[in-house]
Amino acid sequence: MSNTQPKFRVAICGAGIGGLFLATVIAKFSSNIKIDVYEAHDAVTTAGAGISFRPRTMRIAKELGIYDDVVAVSTFPPERDTPSPIFRVSDIKEGGYEWFGEKARDSAPASMHRMDFVRVIQNHLPKSCNVHLQKRVQSYAEADSGEITIHFADRTTATTDVLVGADGLRSKTRRCMFETAAKVEPPPFDRSQLSKYTDTSYSGYSIYRDLIPMNKLLAHYPDHPVKSAMYILTTIALVLQLCGKGKHLVGYTINGGAMLNFAAVTYDPALEGTDYPGPDTRWVEDRPKQEMLDLFDDYEPMGRAWLDLSATPSRWAIHVVGKLPFWTRGRVAIIGDAAHAATPHLGAGAGAAIEDAWLLGRLLAHPRTALADVPRALAIFEGICKPNAERVADKSMENGKLYDFYTEDPLLQPGEDERSPAALERRREKLVNARQAIVDAEDPLKQWERAEGLLLQA
Ligand SMILES: Cc1cc2nc3c(=O)[nH]c(=O)nc-3n(C[C@H](O)[C@H](O)[C@H](O)COP(=O)(O)OP(=O)(O)OC[C@H]3O[C@@H](n4cnc5c(N)ncnc54)[C@H](O)[C@@H]3O)c2cc1C
Repeated sequence: MSNTQPKFRVAICGAGIGGLFLATVIAKFSSNIKIDVYEAHDAVTTAGAGISFRPRTMRIAKELGIYDDVVAVSTFPPERDTPSPIFRVSDIKEGGYEWFGEKARDSAPASMHRMDFVRVIQNHLPKSCNVHLQKRVQSYAEADSGEITIHFADRTTATTDVLVGADGLRSKTRRCMFETAAKVEPPPFDRSQLSKYTDTSYSGYSIYRDLIPMNKLLAHYPDHPVKSAMYILTTIALVLQLCGKGKHLVGYTINGGAMLNFAAVTYDPALEGTDYPGPDTRWVEDRPKQEMLDLFDDYEPMGRAWLDLSATPSRWAIHVVGKLPFWTRGRVAIIGDAAHAATPHLGAGAGAAIEDAWLLGRLLAHPRTALADVPRALAIFEGICKPNAERVADKSMENGKLYDFYTEDPLLQPGEDERSPAALERRREKLVNARQAIVDAEDPLKQWERAEGLLLQA
């Protein structure tokens, strides 16, 4: 940071993908904003293993100057003539069958280990950005002057001019924003309804996740199709999507082809929108492997091989944040999962957090944005990112149900099987359309041009 007085202070709650990315964007485009990141844990870590980013996210990485480093830790889909993902109908014990393959390299994601990605961002974080560990934000309060006081679980406080909650699914920033709004928000909002937005709801989806060494898999199942693209280059990964009724498996290699990342996904529509049974400490927990094996007992051998080799799967009860009436109030904003945690069936949640961070960071860093302009900058961010993130969340849920044979097919004839060739073709079309919606969404670099135009209009 330059020696001159900063134009304002930004506090970011949460050093996850969204929070760290935001700090990096602000620091890249402005040298006179003081940035403090407050992280609840005693280290910058990230839960889970593999993560995928679509080309739109990679374009942001390019703008930020971290693209080459991200590419260095990524595996990529095969060239155009090799489809990936390959979708199979797999809940047939003796062996399933190929449903279709998507030849869409232009829209297909790069995959990597989450921690590798976090390290890339950390390496680009300027030293002037202070990351404070073991600082669990509990709440915040705004003074009449606009200054914000952050209260931490260790009973300490800090002050800031702008607060961004990037504190994930169970965001305290979101909770505090809506608890406050429920007391003070003027019409047209109905105050009595606002406190319900503090909470999340269970999506009905549970996901068992694990990593398996590829050499172990290939010793056990030498011709496993997931290896078929690996002979070209270990940075090429084929995605296999093994679909069944109420469940699916998805797997792809990461770590230069050394590890297979898989997710075993189950869906119970009766539980969608309910409170998850048991304490929230059980939302992510290690589970006995047998539990997962029993759920996929009817699966074909290529899917069962992943599960057989799993050592300690962890089960994630997937919770979502529904559509919120707003993401910003005054000089406070929420981004990423705090604002729009969705099901992971499009592999786009972290990408959406990065898009938020990109746009918000650029708006805050813009020379035209003085402290008095921050509420307007935040409103511009919300106006552009919110509809996109909500569409991704809807499409992701739709996608999951399409994988799992849970969407209605109005064209199904009496007596026709939902897996007849014609019905599968209709389902394929819907799947491709749902996935294409992400590709067709406005490019993040165009979004920035639009945001800057709005900022300069004043
Ligand atoms: C099974 C699964 C697979 C997924 N796969 C993909 C994928 O392939 N591609 C993709 O784009 N997305 C994927 N996602 C979604 C993605 O993981 C999330 O959308 C993304 O991690 C959100 O980033 P975030 O920074 O908003 O939140 P988080 O990653 O949750 O980070 C929040 C940070 O805030 C900290 N924190 C929490 N509370 C506090 C507090 N009170 N005070 C201070 N710090 C706090 C946390 O410790 C954490 O460091 C997947 C999600 C799941 C569940």
